[in-house]
Amino acid sequence: AVEIRNVSKRFGELAVLKDVSLSLPPGSVTAILGPSGSGKSTLLRTINHLERVDAGLVAVDGELIGYRRDGDTLYELQERDILKRRADVGMVFQSFNLFPHMTALENVAEAPVATGRSSRAEAQAFGRELLARVGLSDKAGSYPRQLSGGQQQRVAIARALALRPKVLLFDEPTSALDPELVGEVLDVIRELARTGTTLVVVTHEIGFARQVADRVVFMEAGEVLESGSPAEVLGVPKHPRTGAFLAKVL
Ligand code: ATP
Ligand code: MG
Repeated sequence: AVEIRNVSKRFGELAVLKDVSLSLPPGSVTAILGPSGSGKSTLLRTINHLERVDAGLVAVDGELIGYRRDGDTLYELQERDILKRRADVGMVFQSFNLFPHMTALENVAEAPVATGRSSRAEAQAFGRELLARVGLSDKAGSYPRQLSGGQQQRVAIARALALRPKVLLFDEPTSALDPELVGEVLDVIRELARTGTTLVVVTHEIGFARQVADRVVFMEAGEVLESGSPAEVLGVPKHPRTGAFLAKVL
């Protein structure tokens, strides 16, 4: 489970997250919607401590991310310990971010070896399993430049799974893809949802959110304006701003 409690974050004068609280049960799928600049990416980045919070806290399965508690005070962890905790939170970006000089399999097997969690042989065996899960058994030896955008994104998903994260975050995973490649990536995410991985997906794919998400969160200007089941938030939005946003993207 992921617990986001009263998280606030500023960039200089700009309050980018304002007292955001969400709790994501194990195995749940949360879709985050909202206009550009509303703080969606920043919120995801606070969950794995790529971004420091100014107030509030984030915990995954009861463990604080980025901090340790001593009495009432939180102390930021050392870089080494931050990296350890961050392994619990996988992230997939819009732009894939694969290592260009490594094959698909090397990309997937890299982190478990580099972090000392697995031997190279174990990491490669698990890597092949993960590539099969995302439908890319035959591409293990291909370099990113030899793969389509949809295939690269599926490798990126396999790579994120290689550290066996407790939660997987997706930041607009299909927005850099040609329209005909969007479906294959959404299918992989749908399959992960079915197998009980806790997922948070920032997306503009409303149809996907309706089908796959347990919960839809609508953000604007750093605030969660509403959250609820897809039927509630997408069907009968309570907040007029949600309705206005949906009218634009649908
Ligand atoms: P989009 O849909 O365009 O991806 P978003 O909802 O993901 O938008 P964020 O990227 O979280 O929005 O940005 C929220 C606000 O914070 C924006 O106004 C952005 O300009 C600002 N911002 C984000 N990162 C930084 C930074 N490192 N320094 C200063 N301002 C930032
Ligand atoms: Mg963003």
